[in-house]
Amino acid sequence: MKRILVTGGAGFIGSHLCERLLADGHEVICLDNFFTGSKQKVVHLIDNPYFELVRHDVTMPYYIEVDEIYNLACPASPVHYQHNPIKTIKTSVMGAINVLGIAKRVKAKILQASTSEVYGDPLVHPQVEGYWGNVNPIGDRSCYDEGKRCAESLFVNYHLKNNVKAKIIRIFNTYGPRMEPDDGRVVSNFIVQALKGENLTIYGDGNQTRSFQFVSDLVEGMVRMMGTGDDFIGPVNLGNPGEFSMLELANMIIKLTGTKSEIVHLPLPKDDPIRRKPDISLAQEKLGGWNPSVQLEEGLKETITYFQGILAEKNND
Ligand code: NAD
Ligand code: UDP
Repeated sequence: MKRILVTGGAGFIGSHLCERLLADGHEVICLDNFFTGSKQKVVHLIDNPYFELVRHDVTMPYYIEVDEIYNLACPASPVHYQHNPIKTIKTSVMGAINVLGIAKRVKAKILQASTSEVYGDPLVHPQVEGYWGNVNPIGDRSCYDEGKRCAESLFVNYHLKNNVKAKIIRIFNTYGPRMEPDDGRVVSNFIVQALKGENLTIYGDGNQTRSFQFVSDLVEGMVRMMGTGDDFIGPVNLGNPGEFSMLELANMIIKLTGTKSEIVHLPLPKDDPIRRKPDISLAQEKLGGWNPSVQLEEGLKETITYFQGILAEKNND
């Protein structure tokens, strides 16, 4: 049994990770400031004696003795990370320094949840880890992109200079149950709109692409990455290489929900990446045959069922 700290553990991905780590027989400390996460997402874990929920902000130092740390604290939806861009940068950068400080002091293994956004609006397709990216350092997305890039630099340098057992994963668009209905990301927006009979809002012409990974595939990859040897720090792409345009996604969700909703077009946000698809050869090679196993239609069905439950609960309130 290991003692494991999960920052951002009360968020969408973090809650699934905490669940998985407890199921694997570990003790989990879930640290969160509840900015975009909530107690609701981990309430089913509270009675587990090996689970601990701590309200804390990663921009402030924290002291604990653990074997492993997963650093997920950071808002992930553009709507949320642009709400207070300076705080977003502080969370990524000061947060990384604080958790790396813990890892250094107690010699814990530490994994950083980085992002495909480090590639910006990529000029190389599909994106390989060796690509340095195309990021606008003063654009609307830069608080997130540059914060995550700086965190990667911190992880690499703590590894090189202080022998910290660091690991970096670059997560591509991930979806599934426990996303917030008003999160602003495309999968949750389209599903909630379809279920409410509202029009699906495509930003721009809808030809931009993304590759969508179901949350259970990501969690499997994270756990496997943590299990790799100390000499392997990554970064490693974790995503599902199936690439879809937003028009294809909208039509799939319309079909799966059977909604009468139609598609409307709204302006494309500034610096919105045109296409994105991971090259996952490195993950396949290094993570013991890891491969995303949930295809989009299957994962969407599960996510639709989840949101049907959430909306029904809200209607009963
Ligand atoms: P989320 O917003 O649901 O989760 C983030 C969690 O971090 C929330 O619980 C939030 O309250 C917490 N948090 C934010 N700022 C904090 C702070 N200063 N101190 C403590 N806690 C704080 O988002 P998610 O989709 O679960 O993303 C989790 C991680 O994965 C993030 O680091 C994100 O950048 C990364 N990621 C996610 C995706 C994706 O598609 N979901 C893609 C790439 C990277
Ligand atoms: N998007 C959209 N309609 C929405 C929300 C998002 O067309 O209601 C588009 C958005 O412009 C982007 C893509 O969907 O091109 C993915 O957006 P999301 O915010 O989910 O993730 P990210 O842009 O960070 O990859």
